[in-house]
Amino acid sequence: MSARTLFHRGEWAAAESGRTFAVHDPATGDTVGEASDGGAVDTARAVTAAHDAFPAWAALPARERSAVLMRWNALLLSRQEEVARTLVAENGKPIKEARAEVAYGAGFVEWSAEEAKRIYGETIPFSVPGKRHIVLRQPVGVTGAITPWNFPLAMVTRKVAPALAAGCTVVLKPAEQTPLTAAIAIKLLAEAGAPPGVANLVTGSDPAPIGHTLLTDPLVRKITFTGSTEVGKLLMRGAADQVKKLSLELGGCAPFLVFADADLEKAAEGLLWCKFRNAGQTCICANRIYVEEAIYDEFLKRFTEKVRAIRVGCGLAEETQLGPLIDAAALAKVEEHVDDARRHGARVFCGGRRLTEGSLARGNFYEPTVLASASGAMRCMREETFGPVAPIAPFRTEDEAVRLANDTRYGLAAYFYTRDVSRVVRLMERLEYGIIGANDPSPAVPQAPFGGFKESGIGREGGKFALEEFLEVKHVCLGV
Ligand code: ADP
Repeated sequence: MSARTLFHRGEWAAAESGRTFAVHDPATGDTVGEASDGGAVDTARAVTAAHDAFPAWAALPARERSAVLMRWNALLLSRQEEVARTLVAENGKPIKEARAEVAYGAGFVEWSAEEAKRIYGETIPFSVPGKRHIVLRQPVGVTGAITPWNFPLAMVTRKVAPALAAGCTVVLKPAEQTPLTAAIAIKLLAEAGAPPGVANLVTGSDPAPIGHTLLTDPLVRKITFTGSTEVGKLLMRGAADQVKKLSLELGGCAPFLVFADADLEKAAEGLLWCKFRNAGQTCICANRIYVEEAIYDEFLKRFTEKVRAIRVGCGLAEETQLGPLIDAAALAKVEEHVDDARRHGARVFCGGRRLTEGSLARGNFYEPTVLASASGAMRCMREETFGPVAPIAPFRTEDEAVRLANDTRYGLAAYFYTRDVSRVVRLMERLEYGIIGANDPSPAVPQAPFGGFKESGIGREGGKFALEEFLEVKHVCLGV
């Protein structure tokens, strides 16, 4: 029987075309499942279902929407292992990271459930005695949510949960590499009691017709997207025609600064996590590392020793610390970045090649890599590498470090390590980034805002900020 991973009006369905597509394990290339190959017609159906479900969902008392989300949270946590294993099968990340992602992803559901009850309106003092001014917050409406493959669960919950909490209904389009985790998430949401049509799923191998339908169907009032800056711009252009509301969480090129007064052990450990988790495939991974000249050699040595000890392998093995890259294109990009860095004079301290030993040959494995003598001429210092490559360059002064860090079109996350409190304050104010890790490599939590300056995006996810993205503000002027 063909895969039925489309979900609309509370029913699982095959694609209108009858087509399916295979989902691959990045560690072996094996097929691990198949998904319905949805297109424009399937998307339009899902949008209509979401539109029909919207008035009743928006009108529910907040605590009832909250209760559905609370049950979703509980189901995700009770099925943590199953979800984590599916996630590893299609994404490749180490199982420990996958388990942590399920807990992190459920955290957005829990937070949104709690926050659903706190969508307050306002009254504003009048200036003319015969008038009263009331502010309502109302759900935007049908929301198209487009998610990436690097956090197949957490990016789904980070969008769907606040949208539902606010009273919106959703059409979710997950990445073509990771539709199976999204299907489990939506199945559990239905089990949690989301009424038919409230959360709909369109999987597909070609995002273009699905995206086009979400952009052009006037019933869709909001698009929330996490992915590349290029696709984000395309969606922004497409959304302009109907002035659809947009939230965009796009690429980054995170700088990681280590000052001579830092706790070097903490900085090296922090960088190890910040650079190599998810094989370097997160938009807030350290992309370019700047180390103060006085400690440059010592830091390089200390960090490289740690990198050499990273255990690479299949994500399902408990001991694995670094899994494969998502696909052949990702591997090719990393190879290009390292070759380009070599041509521009980088010294390869460790790694620097694709791994082809034994069973690794079947997957998209790249050796954890440290590049010294990195410079601004190299692509890996200007573009998002999205792989396990750490290019390191020296700097002399704080001003130079800030200038280098801000010299980019991106502005998502920046990190620095120093023990000087005044410097902490100066840097947190001067760095042009939406997220700052000050002596911390892991800033993303469900209750705090996540999003970027410049070409890294528009809007914020997480915390009370997340719900605002799914609400319209309405002023009622009441004559009395
Ligand atoms: P990456 O390069 O990390 O895969 P993308 O921006 O290509 O990032 O993908 C992120 C999400 O955007 C995925 O769900 C993908 O299918 C979707 N996507 C890609 N191209 C389009 C498009 N033209 N319209 C709508 N969604 C798209």
